[in-house]
Amino acid sequence: MSKNKISIVVPCYNEEEMIPLFLKEIKKQEKKMPDVQFEIIFINDGSKDTTLSVLKRAHSKNSTVHYISFSRNFGKEAALYAGLEHSTGHYVVVMDVDLQDPPELLGEMYDLITEGEYDCIGTRRVTRKGEPPIRSYFAKQFYSLINRISDTEIVDGARDYRMMTRQMVEAMLNVSEYNRFSKGIFSWVGFNTKFLEYENKERMAGKTTWSFWSLFKYSVDGIVAFSDVPLSIASMIGMLSFLASIFMALFFFIRTIFWGNSTSGWTSIVVVLLGLGGLILLCLGIVGKYVGKIYLEVKNRPIYIIKEKT
Ligand code: UDP
Ligand code: MG
Repeated sequence: MSKNKISIVVPCYNEEEMIPLFLKEIKKQEKKMPDVQFEIIFINDGSKDTTLSVLKRAHSKNSTVHYISFSRNFGKEAALYAGLEHSTGHYVVVMDVDLQDPPELLGEMYDLITEGEYDCIGTRRVTRKGEPPIRSYFAKQFYSLINRISDTEIVDGARDYRMMTRQMVEAMLNVSEYNRFSKGIFSWVGFNTKFLEYENKERMAGKTTWSFWSLFKYSVDGIVAFSDVPLSIASMIGMLSFLASIFMALFFFIRTIFWGNSTSGWTSIVVVLLGLGGLILLCLGIVGKYVGKIYLEVKNRPIYIIKEKT
């Protein structure tokens, strides 16, 4: 019987320390799964350390380890896309190199997915232990907000770590937009997903590339990519202030007719002027966010550029 092939797609950015540890863990799991063959695809996302030479060494020692090296840092989402495009397995796993995605789950994922009922076995962190509480708080707010304003469900705590069937991978590849918010795309393409739950783990080595500010920008990107509710809010605000101005016009008109024109009212004019000016700029900013995304999208630039690969 020929073995089922599982491709493991692993984006790496400055992960020289983690790669050998990661490979060791994967090898352990491979031994426990005799009827599968792994293919590991590392994506070197423009690392500034020796990640590439570590990958070259790993490839020369083991031909099932492959690498794709980008010409610069394109971001994890681009790396995932490249990895999925180059994967050849019956099943494809997306996984971080820092072992925050527990490799012990691979066996269980494989057993579940081969039963045929699910097209994707995802993972969900049920705790956020080891994370600054303020970050957990904002993360929670983000998930509750985006799920209220978007038709695409974004599961709280869901990781990118998942095993998918080839059919689902093809669907993911067909979503070839430039502004990739994978958490949303996984859910947007549909298919049956089952989530395995686990407790948060801390990084084994190296450090995270996410700052509070980059997480904030990432969440704005997620909202812009999967909801147009902010645009509706902008037009709503416009509509309300227009109605308010009609009421005010009527009020002042009637007051002038019955009580004559008074010169007072300077304060109210300035307040209204400032308020409206602010709202106009806010709405312009919201519209601008979407226009900016359209601009990037219509330029139709490639999602990533490869410098070398195996
Ligand atoms: N990563 C990447 N490109 C980047 C940033 C990160 O390929 O520009 C990779 C990184 O090497 C790791 C994964 O994406 O394998 C997740 O990164 P990290 O651990 O920093 O994120 P966190 O686990 O804190 O969400
Ligand atoms: Mg991590």
